[in-house]
Amino acid sequence: MKLIIASNNNHKITEIKQILSPWFADVISMGDAGISLEVVEDGQTFVENSLKKAREVFDALGGIYAVLADDSGLSVDALSGAPGVYSARFAREHDDAANNEKLLSLMKDIPDGKRSAKFVCVVSLIRPDSEPLVVRGECHGVVARSLSGSRGFGYDPLFFVPELGKTFSQLSEGEKNAISHRGRALALLRDALERESE
Ligand code: IMP
Repeated sequence: MKLIIASNNNHKITEIKQILSPWFADVISMGDAGISLEVVEDGQTFVENSLKKAREVFDALGGIYAVLADDSGLSVDALSGAPGVYSARFAREHDDAANNEKLLSLMKDIPDGKRSAKFVCVVSLIRPDSEPLVVRGECHGVVARSLSGSRGFGYDPLFFVPELGKTFSQLSEGEKNAISHRGRALALLRDALERESE
């Protein structure tokens, strides 16, 4: 069956393709499927947003293809879970530098022992004639006091993983995928698909 990824982010599409190709003959982006749809991410939770994206694209394609969508973000304990579902537009829409600056400023008086945070990713898969599959991956770390590293995107330069002694921006793509919230969610989805086919 054809699988459409409800995203035009090439980085995500390549990663998802690699992991899910055993189950889907053809894994393509929304753009390659010929639709341009701006889904309004107005849910209160990652689950609501990821299911909404998957459902709208599924319906737009006539309900005949499998559709996968993800929603992710950073949840900081000292900020009661913020930026959470507002991660992409914490300071300004898709402005990583401004978002990181706002996070650093809100955290400036938070002591070292209280800077815990987690990245969360919820992946939803909607297929014709099946119940939706929804999985959640998390990666725990702390918010650093300054930016380090040059790879990745978003809050990567501030997300420090104590076990590795590095921020996400200091990891190679493979190292990040092995422990990231998205990598973990996709591994859970792969496990669920494996169980179904047993
Ligand atoms: P979305 O799931 O693509 O809508 O991501 C929402 C926002 O969360 C992004 O714009 C980033 O600010 C943040 N985010 C999600 N995943 C990551 C990640 O792996 N590294 C850094 N930031 C991330």
